[in-house]
Amino acid sequence: MPLDDGDALVLHHDVGKTIDSIRRFSAHDAAAFESFYAESMLLLREVIGPMRSSAPLPADERRALLSRSARGRRYLELEAQSPLELVRSLFEHEAVRAAVLFNIATRAYLPLLKTRGTGYIVPVALAAMLNTAIHPGGGGRAAAALEGAATDAGATIVTGASVARIDVQGDRATGVTLADGRTLRATRFVCSSLPPPLTFGRLLDDHSHDDYRWQQDSIFGVHLALREPPRYRVPELGSALNVCVGGTSSDAWERACDDVLGGRVPELALQTSVPTQFDPSRAPAGHATAFAWQLVPREPAARWESDVESNAFASAMLDRWRTFAPNLGDAEIAHAIHSPLDTARTVPSMVLGDRHHGSYHPDNFDDRRPDYATPIRGLYLCGSSCYPGGSFTGLPGYNAATRIAVDLGLTAWWTPQDARTALGKLA
Ligand SMILES: Cc1cc2nc3c(=O)[nH]c(=O)nc-3n(C[C@H](O)[C@H](O)[C@H](O)COP(=O)(O)OP(=O)(O)OC[C@H]3O[C@@H](n4cnc5c(N)ncnc54)[C@H](O)[C@@H]3O)c2cc1C
Repeated sequence: MPLDDGDALVLHHDVGKTIDSIRRFSAHDAAAFESFYAESMLLLREVIGPMRSSAPLPADERRALLSRSARGRRYLELEAQSPLELVRSLFEHEAVRAAVLFNIATRAYLPLLKTRGTGYIVPVALAAMLNTAIHPGGGGRAAAALEGAATDAGATIVTGASVARIDVQGDRATGVTLADGRTLRATRFVCSSLPPPLTFGRLLDDHSHDDYRWQQDSIFGVHLALREPPRYRVPELGSALNVCVGGTSSDAWERACDDVLGGRVPELALQTSVPTQFDPSRAPAGHATAFAWQLVPREPAARWESDVESNAFASAMLDRWRTFAPNLGDAEIAHAIHSPLDTARTVPSMVLGDRHHGSYHPDNFDDRRPDYATPIRGLYLCGSSCYPGGSFTGLPGYNAATRIAVDLGLTAWWTPQDARTALGKLA
């Protein structure tokens, strides 16, 4: 994170190097980071991981189980707070606070930085800050690997086809009809990765989920083809996976939170990255690809319908980035804009650019997120609208598969995780 005074806070994969880096700003925060990071990793391994790899427990049961152990009570204590108040109580230096809040915001909690009951995201973000990874060859390679595994196991995958309707006979899902008129029969079950307003509203003409609680933020992206990578005034930033440009105080993130909730575009605080630094296969030799993402309110989405508005916003983002990486202007070969509307058009499941298929407000999280099993027999949900939500984790699908296996009496070839047992064993 480059700072306005020409310095930069740099976080590393290596915890020790990160602590040393923070110590340059605050000895208190270096010590706080060291102990909270260690605690976060324990919480992830013993509490958060097992809970997320399992269907959500009923709220009362979850609380009772967690209350029985010191670790569980600590989790509840952290969860009860808002991310903003927790980060401010843990760290005293504004750069350190901002670095953590940036990581929380880019993980789609921005509008909820001030919402109590979402404090669990701070340990999640701390772990992610130091352990973020990039997929060589692009994320599509992961999808191709999954496709290969499914095909090897006997699956037939139909791509480039739009489902127009889920077919139901009586109270049972019997298959799907595609937009081109083909029908696919389901002998056992139908599983939809679309959020409830689409699964029910669009594919079943049942509009009882139309008041669904969507996220309030989205991402505006600018993607760049470059002759050379950005050269930062602080050279160390050139080898960072993510560079946060702007948003250098907790006040800035608090204002951004208020703005997004109020439907206003916040002050610029970009997540920038140069994937070719880690995966040169993405560009011709010596060249680079890069992108900048800015959190924006999801609505009103119509503001991005005008190219004038979108182009002006992209220019402002690139101008801001150039103040820290001055060669960016000359290095640019071309750029492409990806507004929330572009996300919605290319990925129709992300309505108005909601990349997590629904809000993470406590009213739409844990056992309040849509169930994997629907009231229609043989129809399941498996996408990010289900617990534990979006991002490239596979967990909603994993939990849905476990539920389907149980319901259909199938022998699972994996060992399903069990949150009850894991929480019951906590010390
Ligand atoms: C700009 C951007 C950046 C992101 N960055 C990251 C990141 O760095 N790390 C991370 O972990 N996550 C990131 N995400 C979030 C991540 O992409 C999502 O959380 C994830 O893709 C959700 O997966 P899903 O399978 O639940 O749903 P989706 O990915 O939405 O998949 C649902 C699929 O259904 C298809 N579909 C919709 N309607 C129909 C229909 N009628 N018939 C047939 N198919 C249909 C859609 O086209 C889509 O392919 C980002 C998202 C965006 C938009």
